[in-house]
Amino acid sequence: MNDRRRRSDIAARDLEHLWHPFTQMLEWEKEDFPVIVRGEGVHLIDEAGRRYIDGVSSLWCVVHGHGHPKIVEAISRQAAALDHSTLLGLTHPAAVQLAERLAAIAPEGLTRVFYSDSGAAAVEVALKIAFQYQVQRTPPRPEKRRFISLREAYHGDTIGAVSVGGIDLFHEVYRPLLFDTVKAEAPYCYRCPFGKTYPACDLFCADEMEARVRDRADELAAFIIEPVMQGAGGMIAAPEGFLKRVRKVCDECDVLLIADEVATGFGRTGTMWACERESVVPDLMAAAKGITGGTLPLAATLATDEVYGAFLGDAASSRTFFHGHTYTGNPIACAAALANLDIFEEERTLDRLPGKIDIFAGELDRMKARPHVGDIRRRGLMAGIELVLDAETKAPYPPEDRVGRRVAIEARKRGLIIRPLGSFIVLMPPLATPDEVLREIVRTTHESIRAATETN
Ligand code: PLP
Repeated sequence: MNDRRRRSDIAARDLEHLWHPFTQMLEWEKEDFPVIVRGEGVHLIDEAGRRYIDGVSSLWCVVHGHGHPKIVEAISRQAAALDHSTLLGLTHPAAVQLAERLAAIAPEGLTRVFYSDSGAAAVEVALKIAFQYQVQRTPPRPEKRRFISLREAYHGDTIGAVSVGGIDLFHEVYRPLLFDTVKAEAPYCYRCPFGKTYPACDLFCADEMEARVRDRADELAAFIIEPVMQGAGGMIAAPEGFLKRVRKVCDECDVLLIADEVATGFGRTGTMWACERESVVPDLMAAAKGITGGTLPLAATLATDEVYGAFLGDAASSRTFFHGHTYTGNPIACAAALANLDIFEEERTLDRLPGKIDIFAGELDRMKARPHVGDIRRRGLMAGIELVLDAETKAPYPPEDRVGRRVAIEARKRGLIIRPLGSFIVLMPPLATPDEVLREIVRTTHESIRAATETN
């Protein structure tokens, strides 16, 4: 639809001034996009009153559903009491209480909380802290200034986060701006970069990853990883034991471990943090997305006492962490995050997950026989379906086929919002999704895949 007169007022005005993220705007002009005006539980409602299931938690962050009264109330109470005040030279109760609560639920040993306002910023903060830690530790190791990360990693879109990223499609154009990093292969079993087969491979990729760390140990400040599941790079689920091996080699080589739990945190993989699944405690951890239950932008970087200690000294020592944003620790966002954590406790969100995960997994299993479903990867309520031209040969769809986009359009016609990544279909329902809606999400996806791949 490119006739602006046929669009609603808001849709037509959208085209005049708005520049959408990760969007080819020439294509957008031709799209019949919904204008979302309300969120209710797991539904989004457009201006024509059409209801859609929010199958990707509004970019992976809605936890208890849209408009949870407890969070809405906390936001309005905090806005009336104190809307904003800086953490530079002042403090406020919501920031303090939230730091206490985050330290209490984080993997043990992560005691310090540094706020920012997006996942990418939380990652930048972690990178800067890791670098500066090496300079200021006793004895100093300033030569340890590089980062290692995985191919297909995604850590956000700011320059540092892109530097440690590994998705060529998103990152290649910015290459001249980026700093140099070391890369290890992703544990991508479906297309093993080493041509091996799991489990007979005996985690060969972990051996190779360890070798990369050992080779460059003297230069490495930190290893940054999306624990258990690499999200935007294609929902690559690491085989059990990989993360533990990363922690072990980092310990042996005196390299910090940064866990980017931006996507996996707050129950997404079935435990509060994905690191818990392998009893791993990182030195630094980035959290965002689900932190406010999907209501307001807030992020946090958590650090151990050991890391934090290297930043202490008198003012003249320049040991200060020189970083902060205008809205760092915004009280309204902190209040939303506190209410989010209260709901986790009151509604026993994590205890109720195993049943939901079973339903989700069972429904996904039924999709495996589809001719264009190459692989289904899932941890908790986080899943990726890799579509292929030929499941036998694993031949991928050419990018110009836009298969993921075609599936998403079919899904939207059927009342489900999903957002693909190339030829990967991502499903990330809110953790509070009722059982019958979970089934509907997967069944509608199934039908949409069939409609988009088997009728042309
Ligand atoms: N890290 C991971 C693992 C992510 O999945 C994302 C976003 O998808 C980010 C960082 C960036 O977060 P944000 O979009 O809030 O900057």
